[in-house]
Amino acid sequence: MDFSLTEEQRAWQMKARKFADEEIRPISLKREQIEDPKLTWDWEIIKKGSKLGFRTLAVPKEWGGHGADFVSQGLVMAELSRADCAIGKAFSQNWKWSHLISSVCSDDQKKRFLTKFLEDDTFVMGKGITEPNAGGDNRLPPPDFPKSGFRLHAERKGDEWILNGEKCFIANGGVGKLFFLDARTDPNVGIKSGTTMFMVPADTPGFRFGKQFNKSGWRFYMNAELIFENARVPDANRVGEVNGGVKKGTDDTTGGDLFGDLELAAHALGVCDNACDMAMKHVKTAMKGGKTLTNQQWVQLKLNRMFMLTEALRSFVMRIAWEHDAKVHSQNPGLAMNFSCDTIQDVTRLGVELMGGANGRMSAAADKLARDAVIWTHLGGDSVLRMRYARRIIAAHK
Ligand SMILES: Cc1cc2nc3c(=O)[nH]c(=O)nc-3n(C[C@H](O)[C@H](O)[C@H](O)COP(=O)(O)OP(=O)(O)OC[C@H]3O[C@@H](n4cnc5c(N)ncnc54)[C@H](O)[C@@H]3O)c2cc1C
Repeated sequence: MDFSLTEEQRAWQMKARKFADEEIRPISLKREQIEDPKLTWDWEIIKKGSKLGFRTLAVPKEWGGHGADFVSQGLVMAELSRADCAIGKAFSQNWKWSHLISSVCSDDQKKRFLTKFLEDDTFVMGKGITEPNAGGDNRLPPPDFPKSGFRLHAERKGDEWILNGEKCFIANGGVGKLFFLDARTDPNVGIKSGTTMFMVPADTPGFRFGKQFNKSGWRFYMNAELIFENARVPDANRVGEVNGGVKKGTDDTTGGDLFGDLELAAHALGVCDNACDMAMKHVKTAMKGGKTLTNQQWVQLKLNRMFMLTEALRSFVMRIAWEHDAKVHSQNPGLAMNFSCDTIQDVTRLGVELMGGANGRMSAAADKLARDAVIWTHLGGDSVLRMRYARRIIAAHK
């Protein structure tokens, strides 16, 4: 297997590293210490990163984007997250939906939305699936049971759809300009067969942002409620067939769905790198028992575990990115995501342990990493629901 990077991949990695070191790192801790969750966001960093291509990285070249391959995307995510994973995620959140627009939207929708997205440095996007009573329940509902899963309802009236209901925890809620929404268009069947996906611009009549969630980790990243009160969405903004929504979101073989697992694993890698750097710097100078911590065997064992897990995650991330590019579809993305959740939590906890009690303060950089790491527990389902990959692996080996 050839692990070397092409010139283009290396160039994206270096560009991201420079931006992360010079622009993200100096503001990271300051922004996340702001108490009001509505104020942690900073448009200046988004605009600067956008001008360097980090917002539009995944849009195919034929539509005017950078068309970066998945290996480059993985490298950039890890580099940005080495400085701050919440800021890194604010950029890559858009790549997920550019994959979706490029692969499943009509040419008219691509023209209307991709053009605006490419032109405007402040155009960020999100997708609403989760609702107050439907998070994990969307991913592991009893099959075809109409009462499980999300309830946001869409009813057709002429050339429009009328949406009523709410979504919660939605990325870029409060700042986004376009949202993909999963809505029930047939409430009498389960979500797999009764859902339609819509593209809903933030200025849609009847649509507004609700509460902003005050999270302990990923504080820069916005998560808000989306409220729909007779919101009117033109049929021209429907993505795919009526009642074909969940299928559209998950059967996208160009990488849109698989991308979610790669994304979270690559961001976790950046956080682990940061935790290793931070711990190494500390133990080289901290004196205990008359010698530096690096000379204590138990410290070496902990450092060894941090670096070993981080390098294993790097191999996993790069392999699934390479598999995406080579269009080799396997169970690996889901497994890498699960591995990244365990790894980031182990590595950041060991980092806090090595750096002493003072680093358990809310204002300490090591503490921020540990708080960010906890967020992985509830992403794309929780760590228990994600074990459904085990079922797929068992099925594949029959
Ligand atoms: C930082 C952050 C960003 C997010 N961004 C988005 C976003 O952009 N868009 C979006 O739509 N969502 C988003 N979410 C929501 C996320 O996807 C959900 O939190 C996640 O799916 C878990 O759902 P829940 O929080 O409702 O937990 P629950 O589903 O209530 O889980 C609680 C427990 O119940 C169990 N459980 C739930 N359902 C079942 C079932 N059917 N069978 C057996 N056990 C079950 C789970 O295993 C878990 O242990 C985000 C969440 C966070 C923390």
